[in-house]
Amino acid sequence: MPNCTIRPLNVGHFPKIDKPILTYMRGFGESIRVPVVMWAVEGANQRILIDTGSGDPQRALKYHRPLEQSEGQRPESVLQRIGWNPEEIELVILTHLHWDHCSNNSLFSRAEFIVQEEEVNYANSPLPVHAVAYETPLIGTSPLWVETASRFKMIRGDQKVFPGISSVHLPGHSPGFQGVLIETLKGPYLIAGDCLPLYENWEGDGHEKHIPSGVHTDLFSYYKSFKKLEEIGATPLPGHDMRIFDKRVYP
Ligand SMILES: [Zn+2]
Repeated sequence: MPNCTIRPLNVGHFPKIDKPILTYMRGFGESIRVPVVMWAVEGANQRILIDTGSGDPQRALKYHRPLEQSEGQRPESVLQRIGWNPEEIELVILTHLHWDHCSNNSLFSRAEFIVQEEEVNYANSPLPVHAVAYETPLIGTSPLWVETASRFKMIRGDQKVFPGISSVHLPGHSPGFQGVLIETLKGPYLIAGDCLPLYENWEGDGHEKHIPSGVHTDLFSYYKSFKKLEEIGATPLPGHDMRIFDKRVYP
């Protein structure tokens, strides 16, 4: 059924991110405020959540960076406002396993989590430069997603999830990164997450057509993923751009 709707849910902000973390080799000396986003997708008589956000501010500050999150921005509160009960959600798609996208999995006690097998493998032994993002034992903790790993459904490559909803493997930001392609009454949309953290990553800057995230594991794959996105031709929805909240519901 091509009549899905997509709601970006704001579950906090990182008040100050150095711009080149999001736009590779661009924006030195600039910092920006960015949202943390979960996505609620409805259609095909299903409710699907994409990503689960970044845990609580205390933990974020201890291992990562300051996170602003009001009571009303806690994932439970945000979901409650749209009439979703976390315990009733049966399916979550995880774009990847960086801490700020999968740290509230345990709220969804009945859910199955679709994740790329390659992402789980990499999360278990990333390059040292990515140890913090994946919360490996190197930084003195273990990632919160581990608590729900028994409910992971590992897939390889592109896969149809429901009629009108597919996961699309887009390696580059991480080896097992996946976007989510969603058919709507106004054409296909693609939840691009950290493959395109900002609209600017997709729109380019006059010198380059598209700009990779500053965080990546393979730029060759990344540019192939850009090509794949061009071929798909869907409207991209970036992962950390404030402008995403210009609309409450897409399309
Ligand atoms: Zn990421």
